[in-house]
Amino acid sequence: QKYVYDFAEGNMDLKDLLGGKGANLAEMTNLGLPVPPGFTITTEACKAYLATGEEPAGLAEQIAAHLESLEREMGRPLGDPDDPLLVSVRSGAKFSMPGMMETVLNVGLNDRSVVGLSTQAGGNDRFAWDSYRRLIQMFGKTVCDVPGEEFEHALDEAKRAKGTTSDLDLDADDLRGLVDAYKKIFSKHTGREFPQEPREQLDLAIRAVFESWNAERAVVYRRQERIPADLGTAVNVVAMVFGNLGPDSGTGVAFTRDPASGAQGIYGDYLANAQGEDVVAGIRNTVPLQELERIDKTSYDELLGYMARLEEHYRDLCDIEFTIERGKLWMLQTRVGKRTAAAAFVIAGQLVDEGLIDLDEALHRVNGAQLAQLMFPRFRLDHEFEPVAKGIGASPGAASGKVVFSSDRAVELAAEGESVILVRRETNPDDLNGMIAAKGILTSRGGKTSHAAVVARGMGKTCVSGADDLDVNVPQRRFTVAGRTVNEGDVVSIDGTTGKVYLGEVPVMPSEVVQYFEGTLDAENTDDPLVRAVHRIMTHADQRRRLAVRTNADTAADAARARRFGAGGIGLCRTEHMFLGDRRELVERLILARTDQDRDAALAALLPLQRSDFVEIFRAMDGLPVTVRLIDPPLHEFLPPLEQLAVNVAVAQERGEDVAKEEALLAAVRRMHEQNPMLGLRGVRLGLVVPGLFAMQVRAIAEAAVTVVREGGSACPEIMVPLVGAVQELETVRTEAEKIIAEVVGDSGVEVLIGTMIEVPRAALTAGQIAEAAEFFSFGTNDLTQMGWGFSRDDVEGAFFWRYLELGIFGISPFESIDREGVGRLVRIAAEEGRAARPGLKLGVCGEHGGDPESVHFFHSVGLDYVSCSPFRVPVARLEAGRAAV
Ligand code: ADP
Ligand code: MG
Ligand code: MG
Repeated sequence: QKYVYDFAEGNMDLKDLLGGKGANLAEMTNLGLPVPPGFTITTEACKAYLATGEEPAGLAEQIAAHLESLEREMGRPLGDPDDPLLVSVRSGAKFSMPGMMETVLNVGLNDRSVVGLSTQAGGNDRFAWDSYRRLIQMFGKTVCDVPGEEFEHALDEAKRAKGTTSDLDLDADDLRGLVDAYKKIFSKHTGREFPQEPREQLDLAIRAVFESWNAERAVVYRRQERIPADLGTAVNVVAMVFGNLGPDSGTGVAFTRDPASGAQGIYGDYLANAQGEDVVAGIRNTVPLQELERIDKTSYDELLGYMARLEEHYRDLCDIEFTIERGKLWMLQTRVGKRTAAAAFVIAGQLVDEGLIDLDEALHRVNGAQLAQLMFPRFRLDHEFEPVAKGIGASPGAASGKVVFSSDRAVELAAEGESVILVRRETNPDDLNGMIAAKGILTSRGGKTSHAAVVARGMGKTCVSGADDLDVNVPQRRFTVAGRTVNEGDVVSIDGTTGKVYLGEVPVMPSEVVQYFEGTLDAENTDDPLVRAVHRIMTHADQRRRLAVRTNADTAADAARARRFGAGGIGLCRTEHMFLGDRRELVERLILARTDQDRDAALAALLPLQRSDFVEIFRAMDGLPVTVRLIDPPLHEFLPPLEQLAVNVAVAQERGEDVAKEEALLAAVRRMHEQNPMLGLRGVRLGLVVPGLFAMQVRAIAEAAVTVVREGGSACPEIMVPLVGAVQELETVRTEAEKIIAEVVGDSGVEVLIGTMIEVPRAALTAGQIAEAAEFFSFGTNDLTQMGWGFSRDDVEGAFFWRYLELGIFGISPFESIDREGVGRLVRIAAEEGRAARPGLKLGVCGEHGGDPESVHFFHSVGLDYVSCSPFRVPVARLEAGRAAV
């Protein structure tokens, strides 16, 4: 098996085998860019090594052969005492994992070749000893686990002895002394001398890179970024070029566009007389890349030329590492660069303008998660606000409120109408109520998969986690940060996108992108490049998508907003809120009715109220379909809680008041109490048990439609029956509904569809039968997920989901993104069997998954007609539906 590839043998499509770095080094080599020669050891070799703990057969020989040809090409042997070849040994996996794995520079130096290196560099002793001390430091730390601080202390010590703070002031003798100190540190920690044999150095470094794939931080990073654990890393062995040869040498990074805004221009940093790792380590201050024009115009112009070349070749933003050795430019790395959400849209638009990509490709270059980010409210930071701490942006949004340190206090203050930010070291399931009550959550510990982060994302609540500059003192109800003390009740603001924490209340405003969707910012007449790019890409997504996008909206106001955001109808209009507020009393009358007359009277009183709700919604959605779900939750949800009622009755009795009505209510609540309300008397079951309830709703819908049509509008109601598990349930409802509809609609021309939700597994599995009685299916994937897995969302998200995510049982919560294999399979079966029984059956989805990017792609692939989601997710769903179609 071939385990080693020369750079000239690879190309950018071989990332699986050569890793990203290796594949791109090969690509640049073949483009004729000045890449120092070298070779790549494949991820296959790494995997074989990790599986057995030994280098696979043949690897050593292949490395020897490629090393030999490298030595021949360079005209010097590895670590030769008189004229040494030095190499770097660099990790590089398929996906970039910045800073997670290891790289060792200057391999091949030892007590003898350090002299040869000096000669090679024209008698530059300082450079040679500087390179040697770097090797011992990097090799010690990454290959032999010597604590890095010890080397740093020794370096600081040497600088102090010299009376300086800059490493540039250390001369050859100082550095020689430092090498001695480093060697002592090395042998103290490893129990052996620093290896002098160049090939041994190389082999140990290669092993260390293999092993760094399983370093703890790399494992954690992969889990967070959902990078598969079994890919392995490639190893690149590259001839060294030196940026630390003097003032005419240096090293830097460059971006072909601004990765923050997408703006065109020259972005990057340069550091003279340094080796690559110094730029990242922040040892000295870098200068902006533009300065290189003044320092070394030839190299600068050459670099700009290569940057343009690479952009054109990769047709995307590239980032680049380069080194200049005595006026000669070397390219050491490139890749398609990471960027912010805003830059992603702006750059995609620019590349279309430049003719490098077409609009279909532009659609692939952005995604719904990025669009969602651009839609969160912004802090208006145009004045004096400075962040006092920065944690992890765990759940996006911008939230301000009074600081509280306990769940109970959060609930208390929130009940008084205050906005609160719950601050904890870390959260646990006991904090759940406080998290629900709070506007935002701030913790000093934990990352993107901590309890706080996972639960907050599930609730769509702003969260900053792991702000470790915060010293949180819960018993004293305060925290300190940057020398300031923040007490309970003080106001802070947290930005869940950037992870920044501010003292005081930072004002909030809608983002430009939301202003655009709202129609208050006109894309044709703005020079905001982001808004223009979003407009252009959204327009294309709309042209391309096959899925329609509807919204979940219960009120005319929501419906109108969703329509501005591009919704093509309502996929779920819940009717339960129409039973709340001052209508509760009517519902109580309905529930307490002793006789048919009592009940009919209550329903008759509800009818006009429901009708006027529907009229408003139909008007807002004039001409577009509106799916109305008949009442779904158990009726006792509309009654006061048992304990409260019991207390009221007792108190009233004490006072000698007449409690007949309260007692009746209390009896009803007791009677209707359910052990598992989620699986109890709700949905269609309710409609079949409470006579007249569904009939009243159907009548209200039909009458509202007729009203709107009579006033010259157009209403397209679709009546949706929830929680159906058997076709007989639906047939019963349907027979009654059809009678009412026929009677109400008369010759008004109104057409009413009747369909059902598919949210009980049995419904999915008998979809062929159910389709006989349904003109449409709407998948209620929230309930389908709950019932498919057999857990209740409210009970599990705070209780154990975080643990399941930690263990990798879930890659992502099945409530966030549809579980394709299980719940998704139910959807697929129902879609296929439903359509087989009734061609033309309309299929949609109205669970929260309708607004989740991954899930939208799945629904597209299953062939649904539409997805429905909350108004704010409508643009995200439009974009993803477009992406799914190209
Ligand atoms: P990372 O993946 O962490 O960026 P790299 O393998 O790219 O690690 O190497 C770390 C630094 O060392 C980079 O700045 C890189 O440019 C520099 N470097 C790597 N190989 C060489 C080499 N052969 N000659 C000079 N500098 C190098
Ligand atoms: Mg690099
Ligand atoms: Mg449901």
